[in-house]
Amino acid sequence: MRNDLLTRLAERTAAREHDQLTRRLRTIDRVEGPWVWVGNKRLLSFCSNDYLGLSQHPDVVAQLRRANSAGSGSAHLICGHRAEHAALEQVLAEWTGRERALLFSSGYMANLGTLQALLRDGDLCVQDKLNHACLLDGASLSGATLARYVHADVASASRQLATAGDVPALLATDGVFSMDGDIAPLSELATLCEAQNATLMVDDAHGLGVLGKDGAGSVEAAGLGQQQVPVLMATLGKALGCYGAFVAGSASLIDGLLQTARPYIYTTATPPALAAATLTAVQVARRESWRRERLGSLIARFRAGAAQLGLSLLPSMTAIQPLLLGEAATALEAARVLEAEGFMVTAIRPPTVPRGKARLRITLSAAHADEHVDRLLEALARFASRPPHPSPLPRQSQGRGG
Ligand SMILES: *Cc1c(COP(=O)(O)O)cnc(C)c1O
Repeated sequence: MRNDLLTRLAERTAAREHDQLTRRLRTIDRVEGPWVWVGNKRLLSFCSNDYLGLSQHPDVVAQLRRANSAGSGSAHLICGHRAEHAALEQVLAEWTGRERALLFSSGYMANLGTLQALLRDGDLCVQDKLNHACLLDGASLSGATLARYVHADVASASRQLATAGDVPALLATDGVFSMDGDIAPLSELATLCEAQNATLMVDDAHGLGVLGKDGAGSVEAAGLGQQQVPVLMATLGKALGCYGAFVAGSASLIDGLLQTARPYIYTTATPPALAAATLTAVQVARRESWRRERLGSLIARFRAGAAQLGLSLLPSMTAIQPLLLGEAATALEAARVLEAEGFMVTAIRPPTVPRGKARLRITLSAAHADEHVDRLLEALARFASRPPHPSPLPRQSQGRGG
C-alpha cells in the first residue's frame, strides 16, 4: 500500500510541533525605521538584516516610485535585461574589484546556480559546517561530493581537501556566518586554496555594505582580490535593503554562469526599478560611511553592556549578535518575554542551528538609537535573572518566532 504524501508531511509537522520547532509566520503591518507593527502592537525590531537602514532611505525608495513598469517581462536572456540591470552589474563589479558581475533573482538561486554550473559528479565541494542552507543545497544539486569541515577550522578544511586526491575542488564559505555573526578566516582559506589548487567561493550576504573601508564586504576587509577569491557572491536584500543577489568574478566565470546556471537562465529578471533602487543603495552605502561607523558603535555598546550583565554572547564583531540559550524552549520563552516587553527578536532553533544551540539572533542596525540598545539590554537582563521556568512550557508559548 502506497503511503500518502500529505499524511506523511502532516506527521512531520506534528513531530516538529512536539519538539517545539514549529515555525510561525508573523505578519508585519507596517515598518518605520527600527519599529514594526504587528496588528496594532508596536515592537522595536532586533531581527532584520537591514543593517544600514537603507530599505527606507528616501533616495532608494524614490527609484521605485519613478518606475514606469513593474515587472521586467521575461528572463534576462529573452528580453528582461534592462539598462538598470546592466548599470547595477557594472557598479557591483567596480565596487567589489571584479571584472564582471551577474545579477541573480535571489541569493538562494545565485548559490544553486553557481555551484551547479561549476561542479559536476565526482568533484569535491568542501564547505564550512555552518554555511547557509543554500550553499549546502547547491552542492547536493550539483552532484559533487559534499565534505563539511569544522566551523572556521582551516586545518579541518585542509584535511577534507587532501582526502580527495586530484579531483576538481571548490571550497565554499560564508564571509560572515548568518546565525553566528563571526567572520570566516578568509586569508588562511585563500592560502589553503591556492596551495591545494582549489577554487574559493565566498558568500558575503552579511558582509557586503557592512565590512571593508568602502563597504565592499569581508573580502575587501581581508584585502583579497579576484585572484584569491575567484567566486564572490553577495545578496542585495540585507545591508543594501533591497532584493536580489549577484556573483562577481572574471569575465570568463560570468560568461560561463550566464551560459549554464539554470536558476539564472530559467527565471524572470527582477523588476528594473528594483535594480535602479539597488544601484542607489550601493551609492548611499559607499558615500554615507557614517552608517558603518554608527553600526560599529552600536555593536560595541551592545557587547559592552552584555558583558557587564554577564550575558553569553558569541564572539561576533558584526551586526549579528546571537545570545546562545541552548534549548529551543528557552529561546522561544525568551522571544515571548521580549515581545511582551515590546521587542521583536526571533528565536532561532534547529534545524537552522545545531541541536542544543537555539538562540536569540539579535541584529543591530544603523537605524537603532543608543537608547534602543540600552532598553534591549535591560530587558535581556530581566530575562536572564528570572526565576527558573517550570518545564514543560505551556502549550500556547509554542511555535513563536522563526
Ligand atoms: C540570506 C542568505 C542567502 C540567501 O539570499 P536571498 O537573497 O535571501 O535568497 C544566501 N546566503 C547567505 C549566507 C544568506 O544569509
